[in-house]
Amino acid sequence: MSTNRRFYIGNLSLKVTKDDLRRHFGLDSTPYLRSNSWIELPVERPGMSHGFGFINVPEQLASHLLQLNGTKLYDRFIKVEPANTQMGGRRSKVSIPSMFPSSYVMPIPQLANYPYGMNQYSHNMKGRRNRQFLQGPNEIVTVPEDRILQLIDVGVNLPNKAFSRDIRNVIEQADLVGIKKMILTGNTLQMSQSAVLHAKAHPHVLYASVGVHPHFTTKEWNEKTAREIEELAKDPVVVAIGEVGLDFHRNYSDEKAQVEAFTKQVEIACEVQKPLLAHERASHQKFIEVLSHFSGRLPSIVIHCFTGSVSEMSAYVAMGFYIGICGFICKDSPGKALRDALKEGVLPLDRILLESDAPYMIPNAPEKELDDVCKSLLKRCQPGRNEPCTLPIVAHTVAKCLGVDAEEVARASTENARRVFDLKLPVPTTQPAPTAIGSE
Ligand SMILES: [Zn+2]
Repeated sequence: MSTNRRFYIGNLSLKVTKDDLRRHFGLDSTPYLRSNSWIELPVERPGMSHGFGFINVPEQLASHLLQLNGTKLYDRFIKVEPANTQMGGRRSKVSIPSMFPSSYVMPIPQLANYPYGMNQYSHNMKGRRNRQFLQGPNEIVTVPEDRILQLIDVGVNLPNKAFSRDIRNVIEQADLVGIKKMILTGNTLQMSQSAVLHAKAHPHVLYASVGVHPHFTTKEWNEKTAREIEELAKDPVVVAIGEVGLDFHRNYSDEKAQVEAFTKQVEIACEVQKPLLAHERASHQKFIEVLSHFSGRLPSIVIHCFTGSVSEMSAYVAMGFYIGICGFICKDSPGKALRDALKEGVLPLDRILLESDAPYMIPNAPEKELDDVCKSLLKRCQPGRNEPCTLPIVAHTVAKCLGVDAEEVARASTENARRVFDLKLPVPTTQPAPTAIGSE
C-alpha cells in the first residue's frame, strides 16, 4: 500500500482544466497512476479556474513531479511545490519561476538510486559520487554557431537522481550545444514512468523508452510490472523498449530471471513494433538465442552502449542491428577495441547511433585529443557526472576513427535516429507546448 503526497500547483491559466493537468503531469500514463492520483481544481465558475489547485500522486513519484515545477502550460510557467507549505491554498504570486527553487528538499526515490555503471568504467569517481551529484546547476557553456553539431541523444538517464536538482539546466545546456532531441531511458518501472512524465512535459524534445534493466529483474520483474510496462509501451511519447537485455558480466540478477524478463519485453516490443534499446554484456550468445525465437517479428534492434568485441559487432551488423556509441569510445584503454573496430570499417555510418548514457560514461578522452569546445563541455560536468551536452565529443571521436568530418557523423546518426525511433509526434491537443528550451 503506497502513500500519496499532495502538491500545490500554482500560476495556472484560468482556462486550465483537470484534463489539461492530468495530461501535463502524465497522470493517465499507466492504470496504476490513473487510479492512484487525482487533482483538485477549485473553480470560480464553470470553465474558469482560480489559477491554482492541488495534485495528489503516489509517494514514489513525488520528486519527479517536482521536476515539472516551472514547466509551461498555456504559456505560463506553472509552480509545483509540496502542499504543506501552502496551507490555505493561496494564489501563487510567482509568474516567472525561479529556475532552481530552494524552498524544498528534494526527496530521493530509492529505486532511482541504482547501483550500476558508477564505477564500471570510470576511474575518477570512486567514493565521491552522490554528494557531488547533488550540487546545484553549473554555468551554461555556449558554443559558436558554426561549430554546433546537430545531434540526437538516443539514451540518457535523465530520470536518474543525479539530475534531480538541475534537470532543466541540463536540458537547456544540451539544447544550446545542438542536442535537439533526447530519448530518456527507463531502467525500472518507476524510471520508465518518470521518463514518460518528462517526455509529456517536453513534447518533441524529450521522448521515453520504457523497460526493466537486467540488473533489476530479480528485484522488480513480476506479472504486474510486465503489465505496467506493456501499458506504458503503447503511449505515443514512448519510442522504444529499453534498456532491456542481458548482463552476465555483473550478474546483479540471476540469469534465469534476466532471460525471462528479457523474453517478455522483446515480446512487448514486437507487439507495439517499437525498437528495442538493448543492454548486452558478456551475453552475446544467449542474447541472440532469445531474439531468434522472434525472428520475422522483430522491430529495429539497437545495441546500446556497445562495449563488445569486433566479431560481435560484425555479427550484429550482419543481422541488421544498430550500434549505440557512447563515451566509452573515448576512454583511453577500455575504448581502444571499439575505436579499432571503427577504423577497420566494421560499422557502416548508416548503423551508428550516438548516446550519452549520462550520468554515466563520461567521454573523458585524453586532453590532447580535444578541441577547445569539447574541453569546455567536459569541464562543465560535475565530477563523476556525465551530461548529454558532451555528446559532441563522442561524435568527434567517431569521426576521427572513420576518417570523416564530425558533421557527417552528426548528419548520419541524426538521420538514423529519426528513422529508427520514428521521431515525429502528433501535435499535442493541449497548449503546453515546447517549454523553455524550444522545439523544432
Ligand atoms: Zn546499459
